[in-house]
Amino acid sequence: MTERRSPQVPGWIARSVQTSVQTGSSAARSPAPKSIYPLGVSASPVGVGLDSSAVRARMVQRIAAAGVSNPAVLHAMATVERHRFVDSALVNQAYEDTSLPIGLAQTISKPSVVARMIELLLDSDAARSGQGRVLEVGTGCGYQAAVLAMVTKEVYSIERLRGLHEKARSNLRPMRLSNVHLILGDGMVGFASGAPYAGIICAAGGEAVPQAWCEQLAVGGRLVAPVVVGSGKQALLVIDKSSHGFTQTVLEAVNFVPLKSGIA
Ligand code: SAH
Repeated sequence: MTERRSPQVPGWIARSVQTSVQTGSSAARSPAPKSIYPLGVSASPVGVGLDSSAVRARMVQRIAAAGVSNPAVLHAMATVERHRFVDSALVNQAYEDTSLPIGLAQTISKPSVVARMIELLLDSDAARSGQGRVLEVGTGCGYQAAVLAMVTKEVYSIERLRGLHEKARSNLRPMRLSNVHLILGDGMVGFASGAPYAGIICAAGGEAVPQAWCEQLAVGGRLVAPVVVGSGKQALLVIDKSSHGFTQTVLEAVNFVPLKSGIA
Protein backbone atom coordinates (compact mmCIF):
# COMPACT_ATOMS: atom_id res chain seq x y z
CA MET A 1 0.00 0.00 0.00
CA THR A 2 1.32 3.42 -0.84
CA GLU A 3 0.03 6.76 0.26
CA ARG A 4 0.59 10.14 -1.24
CA ARG A 5 -0.71 13.48 -0.12
CA SER A 6 -1.56 16.41 -2.29
CA PRO A 7 -2.60 19.89 -1.25
CA GLN A 8 -4.61 20.40 -4.42
CA VAL A 9 -5.94 17.87 -6.89
CA PRO A 10 -4.36 14.41 -6.78
CA GLY A 11 -2.59 13.01 -9.81
CA TRP A 12 -5.24 10.39 -10.45
CA ILE A 13 -7.85 13.03 -11.18
CA ALA A 14 -8.33 13.77 -14.85
CA ARG A 15 -8.03 17.47 -15.51
CA SER A 16 -9.83 17.35 -18.84
CA VAL A 17 -13.35 16.73 -17.51
CA GLN A 18 -14.88 19.95 -16.24
CA THR A 19 -18.27 20.34 -14.59
CA SER A 20 -19.74 22.87 -12.26
CA VAL A 21 -19.84 22.14 -8.55
CA GLN A 22 -23.33 21.90 -7.10
CA THR A 23 -23.93 22.35 -3.42
CA GLY A 24 -26.87 22.42 -1.10
CA SER A 25 -29.11 19.98 -2.94
CA SER A 26 -32.63 19.97 -1.63
CA ALA A 27 -33.08 16.24 -2.21
CA ALA A 28 -35.14 14.77 0.59
CA ARG A 29 -33.46 12.19 2.77
CA SER A 30 -35.26 9.13 4.01
CA PRO A 31 -34.07 6.56 6.51
CA ALA A 32 -32.73 3.25 5.29
CA PRO A 33 -35.47 0.63 5.20
CA LYS A 34 -35.65 -1.90 8.03
CA SER A 35 -36.77 -4.77 5.85
CA ILE A 36 -35.53 -5.14 2.34
CA TYR A 37 -38.62 -6.88 0.95
CA PRO A 38 -42.05 -5.46 1.72
CA LEU A 39 -44.88 -7.70 2.85
CA GLY A 40 -46.46 -9.47 -0.05
CA VAL A 41 -43.22 -10.08 -1.91
CA SER A 42 -42.21 -13.71 -1.65
CA ALA A 43 -38.90 -14.19 0.09
CA SER A 44 -38.67 -17.80 -1.03
CA PRO A 45 -35.44 -18.49 -2.87
CA VAL A 46 -35.43 -19.50 -6.50
CA GLY A 47 -33.07 -22.35 -7.19
CA VAL A 48 -30.54 -21.70 -4.45
CA GLY A 49 -31.55 -24.35 -1.95
CA LEU A 50 -34.32 -24.38 0.59
CA ASP A 51 -33.04 -21.56 2.75
CA SER A 52 -31.18 -18.83 0.91
CA SER A 53 -30.64 -16.91 4.18
CA ALA A 54 -28.42 -19.77 5.43
CA VAL A 55 -26.47 -19.69 2.15
CA ARG A 56 -26.08 -15.93 2.53
CA ALA A 57 -25.00 -16.32 6.15
CA ARG A 58 -22.19 -18.59 4.97
CA MET A 59 -21.24 -16.01 2.32
CA VAL A 60 -21.13 -13.34 5.04
CA GLN A 61 -18.93 -15.55 7.24
CA ARG A 62 -16.44 -15.76 4.38
CA ILE A 63 -16.61 -11.98 3.85
CA ALA A 64 -15.98 -11.40 7.57
CA ALA A 65 -13.09 -13.89 7.52
CA ALA A 66 -11.61 -11.89 4.64
CA GLY A 67 -11.47 -8.84 6.93
CA VAL A 68 -14.74 -6.89 6.57
CA SER A 69 -15.98 -6.03 10.06
CA ASN A 70 -18.54 -3.19 9.74
CA PRO A 71 -21.72 -4.75 11.25
CA ALA A 72 -24.06 -2.67 9.08
CA VAL A 73 -22.29 -3.82 5.92
CA LEU A 74 -22.33 -7.47 7.00
CA HIS A 75 -26.02 -7.19 7.90
CA ALA A 76 -26.82 -5.67 4.49
CA MET A 77 -24.86 -8.41 2.70
CA ALA A 78 -26.80 -10.99 4.71
CA THR A 79 -30.11 -9.37 3.80
CA VAL A 80 -29.99 -8.48 0.10
CA GLU A 81 -30.83 -11.52 -1.99
CA ARG A 82 -28.08 -11.61 -4.64
CA HIS A 83 -29.76 -14.46 -6.50
CA ARG A 84 -32.56 -12.07 -7.50
CA PHE A 85 -30.07 -9.98 -9.48
CA VAL A 86 -28.52 -12.69 -11.66
CA ASP A 87 -29.93 -14.66 -14.56
CA SER A 88 -31.84 -17.82 -13.64
CA ALA A 89 -29.11 -20.02 -15.12
CA LEU A 90 -26.62 -18.56 -12.61
CA VAL A 91 -28.63 -18.55 -9.38
CA ASN A 92 -26.74 -21.54 -8.03
CA GLN A 93 -23.55 -19.47 -8.12
CA ALA A 94 -25.15 -16.35 -6.63
CA TYR A 95 -23.61 -16.81 -3.18
CA GLU A 96 -20.17 -17.88 -4.32
CA ASP A 97 -17.48 -15.25 -4.07
CA THR A 98 -17.33 -14.70 -7.78
CA SER A 99 -18.24 -12.04 -10.30
CA LEU A 100 -20.99 -13.11 -12.71
CA PRO A 101 -22.17 -11.90 -16.13
CA ILE A 102 -25.22 -9.59 -16.10
CA GLY A 103 -25.50 -9.03 -19.87
CA LEU A 104 -24.09 -6.45 -22.30
CA ALA A 105 -20.56 -7.71 -21.47
CA GLN A 106 -20.79 -6.40 -17.89
CA THR A 107 -20.47 -8.23 -14.57
CA ILE A 108 -21.85 -8.06 -11.05
CA SER A 109 -18.87 -7.68 -8.69
CA LYS A 110 -17.73 -10.36 -6.23
CA PRO A 111 -19.63 -10.09 -2.92
CA SER A 112 -16.35 -9.72 -0.99
CA VAL A 113 -15.34 -6.77 -3.17
CA VAL A 114 -18.77 -5.11 -2.82
CA ALA A 115 -18.55 -5.45 0.98
CA ARG A 116 -14.94 -4.25 1.10
CA MET A 117 -15.64 -1.16 -1.02
CA ILE A 118 -18.77 -0.21 0.92
CA GLU A 119 -16.93 -0.64 4.22
CA LEU A 120 -14.23 1.71 2.93
CA LEU A 121 -16.87 4.16 1.69
CA LEU A 122 -18.49 4.39 5.13
CA ASP A 123 -15.19 4.96 6.92
CA SER A 124 -15.14 8.71 6.27
CA ASP A 125 -15.68 11.81 8.38
CA ALA A 126 -18.80 12.68 6.38
CA ALA A 127 -20.36 9.23 6.86
CA ARG A 128 -19.46 9.17 10.55
CA SER A 129 -21.04 12.60 11.05
CA GLY A 130 -24.32 11.33 9.66
CA GLN A 131 -24.18 12.60 6.07
CA GLY A 132 -25.47 9.77 4.00
CA ARG A 133 -25.96 10.70 0.37
CA VAL A 134 -23.86 8.57 -2.00
CA LEU A 135 -23.29 8.36 -5.74
CA GLU A 136 -22.74 4.97 -7.33
CA VAL A 137 -21.25 5.02 -10.83
CA GLY A 138 -22.16 1.81 -12.67
CA THR A 139 -25.58 0.57 -11.50
CA GLY A 140 -25.25 -2.66 -13.48
CA CYS A 141 -27.96 -5.05 -12.27
CA GLY A 142 -28.67 -2.93 -9.17
CA TYR A 143 -27.26 -5.32 -6.55
CA GLN A 144 -24.72 -2.96 -5.02
CA ALA A 145 -27.29 -0.14 -5.08
CA ALA A 146 -29.58 -2.34 -2.94
CA VAL A 147 -26.77 -3.01 -0.46
CA LEU A 148 -25.93 0.71 -0.37
CA ALA A 149 -29.59 1.52 0.27
CA MET A 150 -29.41 -0.41 3.53
CA VAL A 151 -26.37 1.41 4.89
CA THR A 152 -26.77 4.98 3.60
CA LYS A 153 -29.59 7.51 3.62
CA GLU A 154 -29.84 8.22 -0.11
CA VAL A 155 -28.35 6.47 -3.14
CA TYR A 156 -27.97 8.05 -6.58
CA SER A 157 -26.91 5.33 -9.00
CA ILE A 158 -25.99 6.13 -12.58
CA GLU A 159 -25.61 3.67 -15.47
CA ARG A 160 -24.58 4.41 -19.07
CA LEU A 161 -26.18 1.30 -20.67
CA ARG A 162 -29.93 1.62 -21.09
CA GLY A 163 -30.45 -2.17 -21.02
CA LEU A 164 -28.81 -2.46 -17.60
CA HIS A 165 -30.45 0.69 -16.24
CA GLU A 166 -33.80 -0.92 -17.07
CA LYS A 167 -32.73 -4.31 -15.70
CA ALA A 168 -31.74 -2.67 -12.40
CA ARG A 169 -35.06 -0.85 -12.29
CA SER A 170 -37.00 -4.09 -12.64
CA ASN A 171 -34.71 -5.97 -10.20
CA LEU A 172 -35.12 -3.26 -7.56
CA ARG A 173 -38.84 -2.58 -8.06
CA PRO A 174 -40.09 -5.38 -5.74
CA MET A 175 -37.88 -4.03 -2.96
CA ARG A 176 -39.59 -0.61 -3.07
CA LEU A 177 -36.50 1.23 -1.91
CA SER A 178 -37.61 4.85 -1.64
CA ASN A 179 -34.03 6.01 -1.06
CA VAL A 180 -32.60 4.74 -4.36
CA HIS A 181 -32.60 6.97 -7.45
CA LEU A 182 -31.61 5.33 -10.73
CA ILE A 183 -30.24 7.58 -13.45
CA LEU A 184 -29.47 6.78 -17.09
CA GLY A 185 -26.40 8.84 -17.92
CA ASP A 186 -22.67 9.12 -18.23
CA GLY A 187 -21.26 8.79 -14.73
CA MET A 188 -17.92 10.23 -15.89
CA VAL A 189 -19.48 13.64 -15.23
CA GLY A 190 -20.97 12.48 -11.94
CA PHE A 191 -24.50 13.60 -11.12
CA ALA A 192 -24.42 17.23 -10.05
CA SER A 193 -28.07 17.41 -8.96
CA GLY A 194 -27.41 15.10 -6.01
CA ALA A 195 -24.12 16.68 -4.91
CA PRO A 196 -22.41 17.07 -2.55
CA TYR A 197 -21.97 13.37 -1.77
CA ALA A 198 -20.64 11.92 1.46
CA GLY A 199 -19.39 9.07 -0.70
CA ILE A 200 -18.82 8.20 -4.35
CA ILE A 201 -18.29 4.57 -5.34
CA CYS A 202 -17.49 3.35 -8.80
CA ALA A 203 -17.83 -0.18 -10.15
CA ALA A 204 -15.82 0.36 -13.34
CA GLY A 205 -12.12 1.02 -13.76
CA GLY A 206 -10.89 4.15 -15.52
CA GLU A 207 -7.46 5.52 -16.41
CA ALA A 208 -8.07 8.38 -13.98
CA VAL A 209 -10.70 9.69 -11.61
CA PRO A 210 -12.85 12.30 -13.35
CA GLN A 211 -12.43 15.72 -11.79
CA ALA A 212 -16.21 16.05 -11.52
CA TRP A 213 -16.29 13.28 -8.90
CA CYS A 214 -13.85 15.16 -6.68
CA GLU A 215 -15.82 18.37 -7.14
CA GLN A 216 -19.08 16.65 -6.24
CA LEU A 217 -17.63 15.05 -3.09
CA ALA A 218 -18.52 16.75 0.20
CA VAL A 219 -15.74 17.98 2.45
CA GLY A 220 -15.12 14.98 4.72
CA GLY A 221 -16.36 12.67 1.99
CA ARG A 222 -14.64 9.68 0.46
CA LEU A 223 -14.40 8.27 -3.04
CA VAL A 224 -13.68 4.57 -3.68
CA ALA A 225 -12.91 3.49 -7.23
CA PRO A 226 -10.77 1.12 -9.25
CA VAL A 227 -8.14 2.86 -11.42
CA VAL A 228 -5.68 1.59 -13.97
CA VAL A 229 -2.23 1.72 -12.40
CA GLY A 230 -0.20 0.57 -15.39
CA SER A 231 0.00 -2.19 -18.02
CA GLY A 232 -3.76 -2.73 -17.80
CA LYS A 233 -3.66 -3.60 -14.08
CA GLN A 234 -6.16 -1.97 -11.73
CA ALA A 235 -5.97 -1.10 -8.05
CA LEU A 236 -8.54 0.18 -5.61
CA LEU A 237 -8.09 3.89 -5.00
CA VAL A 238 -9.48 5.80 -2.02
CA ILE A 239 -9.61 9.60 -2.16
CA ASP A 240 -10.54 11.60 0.95
CA LYS A 241 -11.56 15.24 0.65
CA SER A 242 -10.84 17.64 3.49
CA SER A 243 -10.92 21.41 3.75
CA HIS A 244 -7.18 21.31 2.98
CA GLY A 245 -7.37 19.23 -0.19
CA PHE A 246 -7.26 15.56 -1.08
CA THR A 247 -5.53 12.50 0.33
CA GLN A 248 -5.26 9.41 -1.79
CA THR A 249 -4.48 5.84 -0.87
CA VAL A 250 -3.81 3.03 -3.33
CA LEU A 251 -4.95 -0.34 -2.02
CA GLU A 252 -5.09 -3.89 -3.39
CA ALA A 253 -5.27 -5.04 -7.01
CA VAL A 254 -8.79 -5.44 -8.41
CA ASN A 255 -10.37 -6.38 -11.70
CA PHE A 256 -13.35 -4.35 -12.94
CA VAL A 257 -14.98 -3.77 -16.31
CA PRO A 258 -13.77 -0.55 -17.97
CA LEU A 259 -15.20 2.88 -17.25
CA LYS A 260 -16.47 4.26 -20.57
CA SER A 261 -17.95 7.59 -21.58
CA GLY A 262 -21.28 8.31 -23.24
CA ILE A 263 -24.65 6.56 -23.12
CA ALA A 264 -25.40 3.43 -25.18
N1 SAH B 1 -22.53 -2.28 -9.20
C1 SAH B 1 -22.91 -3.12 -10.28
C2 SAH B 1 -21.70 -3.58 -11.06
C3 SAH B 1 -21.87 -3.30 -12.50
S1 SAH B 1 -20.44 -3.49 -13.50
C4 SAH B 1 -23.78 -4.27 -9.83
O1 SAH B 1 -24.00 -4.44 -8.62
O2 SAH B 1 -24.27 -5.00 -10.68
C5 SAH B 1 -20.01 -1.83 -13.86
C6 SAH B 1 -21.04 -1.03 -14.59
O3 SAH B 1 -20.47 0.26 -14.84
C7 SAH B 1 -21.47 -1.57 -15.94
O4 SAH B 1 -22.84 -1.78 -15.94
C8 SAH B 1 -21.08 -0.46 -16.91
O5 SAH B 1 -21.98 -0.29 -17.98
C9 SAH B 1 -21.08 0.75 -16.00
N2 SAH B 1 -20.33 1.91 -16.48
C10 SAH B 1 -19.12 1.96 -17.11
N3 SAH B 1 -18.80 3.24 -17.40
C11 SAH B 1 -19.82 4.01 -16.94
C12 SAH B 1 -20.10 5.41 -16.95
N4 SAH B 1 -19.26 6.31 -17.50
N5 SAH B 1 -21.24 5.85 -16.39
C13 SAH B 1 -22.13 4.98 -15.83
N6 SAH B 1 -21.94 3.66 -15.82
C14 SAH B 1 -20.79 3.18 -16.35
